[in-house]
Amino acid sequence: MRNPFQLPPGQAHFAPELERAVVDELYKRAWAAFGALILVLAVAGSVLKEAIQRHPPIGRVLMLMVVVTLLRTLSLVLLKNLPSPRLRYWGFITGSTLIAFGFADLNIVSYPYLELPELALLCMIDLGICSGALMSMGSSFLTYVLYVIPNIGSIALVVALGPSTRWSQNFMLLGCIYLVALVLLALQLALAYRREVILRMEMAEMALRDNLTQLRNRRALIEFMSLESEQVLRSWRITPDPTHPKTASSLGILMLDIDHFKAVNDTFGHLAGDEVLKQIAAILTETARKPDMVVRWGGEEFVIVARDTERKPPSRLAERIRERVEQHPFHLSTGQTIQVTCSIGYSVFPFDEKLPALLTWEQLISVADTGMYFAKTHGRNRSVGIMAADQIKTDSEVLSCLEQSLEKAQADGLVRLVE
Ligand code: GH3
Ligand code: MG
Ligand code: MG
Repeated sequence: MRNPFQLPPGQAHFAPELERAVVDELYKRAWAAFGALILVLAVAGSVLKEAIQRHPPIGRVLMLMVVVTLLRTLSLVLLKNLPSPRLRYWGFITGSTLIAFGFADLNIVSYPYLELPELALLCMIDLGICSGALMSMGSSFLTYVLYVIPNIGSIALVVALGPSTRWSQNFMLLGCIYLVALVLLALQLALAYRREVILRMEMAEMALRDNLTQLRNRRALIEFMSLESEQVLRSWRITPDPTHPKTASSLGILMLDIDHFKAVNDTFGHLAGDEVLKQIAAILTETARKPDMVVRWGGEEFVIVARDTERKPPSRLAERIRERVEQHPFHLSTGQTIQVTCSIGYSVFPFDEKLPALLTWEQLISVADTGMYFAKTHGRNRSVGIMAADQIKTDSEVLSCLEQSLEKAQADGLVRLVE
């Protein structure tokens, strides 16, 4: 049988998450189904009360079903703690199979001893159980048919054969058909969940990606930074001694804006502009390291968060990006090749090693933005870093001074520029 957790190579990175999600989903639904099942079995008991008095084996089969249901509940509790999702998954399938077999038994054993109204009620309960099972297993039509066929089949078989037939052989035959149906059911179920879970994960993934460039979007950056900045600050709390900053981590924050991008759109068209954006995204992804975060901040602005900069300004990364963009021949689908440059501003989080919590990461994006505008007003195609100087006291002091003028902040000894 196909491994329900095997994914095509392109989606292989989803595999562990898929296993966890499928198994969690199964168990969530299984608990709801158990409640229904126990209730249905209690109703079955009262319906079959008289028939049980006439023919005790019906009672024994019913009891067996109650025990199997309880055992399955218990096994779920135990299986949930098994380390392998695959084992837990097959434990679930085995439990379902046992219950389904139990019900076919009940049909076969009780049929010859039931009055017509009792038989009708048993069929209804049977269908109710199938629906309960369905609730725990998924909702595709094929799943339903696969589950119902053996139960209907068991009743049809005893009706057709009559009470006096030697049915041990026929029961074997029915058992084989039932087994095949359940194997198909298990497969169908796994595939249905797989599709559902993949779809959900792809949607979650899409919500964090920019459509045009396939880079991460602003929302993804917020998610990433809310955890990452907390971790960085924690590393500084653990290592407050700035003379040994190695064990404390920091993040380089770069803001990039394409120079005269409007002119690209105006001269070559909006589609050409889109092609340039995609090629810039490719350059950024290639230049940044794997753990770094490359984000389309909006329009033709990009943010790069570089991990583990060890408090060095990320000037080498900024320059490498700037040079690569400058040297890259942007081939357009019209056959033309154009040159594009960009301006980059950057800073580092935490801004001041003596006061690591002085500026938030959001404020540092603004600081990098200020650096980028400084680069724009000083000739473009440049990278400018804004780093903390010695005089800093409060965050509002730095920010209000930066808002007024970067040169003033620099003259006041609040920040120093790296170019
Ligand atoms: P500067 O050097 O000062 O940055 O000049 P600029 O022309 O790049 O100015 P600005 O940053 O204001 O221009 C942004 C332009 O980017 C305007 C807008 O039409 C274009 N733009 C924003 N998003 C997209 C997009 O998704 N595709 C295309 N083709 N253009 C975009
Ligand atoms: Mg812009
Ligand atoms: Mg621009």
